[in-house]
Amino acid sequence: MATIQFQKDINKDVRNWWEANNHLSYGFDFSEKCPPEIKKKIKGKKFSKVKDYIEKHIKKYYKNYPQWKKENEKNLKPYEKETIQKLERIHKKKFPVEFIDIYYTSFPRNPYGGGKKRFWTQIYMHEKDKQKLLVTIIHELMHLFFHKYYWKTCKKKGLNDEETHDIKEAFSVLINEEFKNLKLKDKGYDSHQKIRKHILREWKKKKDFPKVLDLTIKYYKQKCQN
Ligand SMILES: [Zn+2]
Repeated sequence: MATIQFQKDINKDVRNWWEANNHLSYGFDFSEKCPPEIKKKIKGKKFSKVKDYIEKHIKKYYKNYPQWKKENEKNLKPYEKETIQKLERIHKKKFPVEFIDIYYTSFPRNPYGGGKKRFWTQIYMHEKDKQKLLVTIIHELMHLFFHKYYWKTCKKKGLNDEETHDIKEAFSVLINEEFKNLKLKDKGYDSHQKIRKHILREWKKKKDFPKVLDLTIKYYKQKCQN
């Protein structure tokens, strides 16, 4: 059984602030969520030039970390096992890693990454509400499954990386159906709403991940590719 741990790493947090202001995410510009006076200082600047400035600005948020960790541990615990098992059933695959590290971030953006045995993601410091915490973690864990087991299916069918990311993101709509008992709401990106509707429609007909993925790739090629 995989273990989930809450962690802190201020360098990862600094990186999140910088990336939010210097990269688009599926057409969405996260710098809109940045206080204007900070955005002005870091947007369009080299990471090495602004990292000390960001660190100085965010240090103050770290006094909330112990409480954030404690509350989130308490909120996650009763659902941890059930969530992992459910994700395995949805994807028809074993949980891909042994360790999941959830890092504190003071910016409302949740990047992720990892290697063979570990997966990490970042969760916003204000996400202490049980529902929001769970939906965010499950959303990121779905990406882990997708990367590990279904990324290459999309590539083999001729989709490029950006298109495969679209499909990966859109599949998080399944949370709304499969975690109904927890009343979770995964909104998704504006640019993926059409494809999310398609996924949910097919999923309700037959809960078979590889099959729905196959149909979704076909749909994407017909309706969403330029
Ligand atoms: Zn995502």
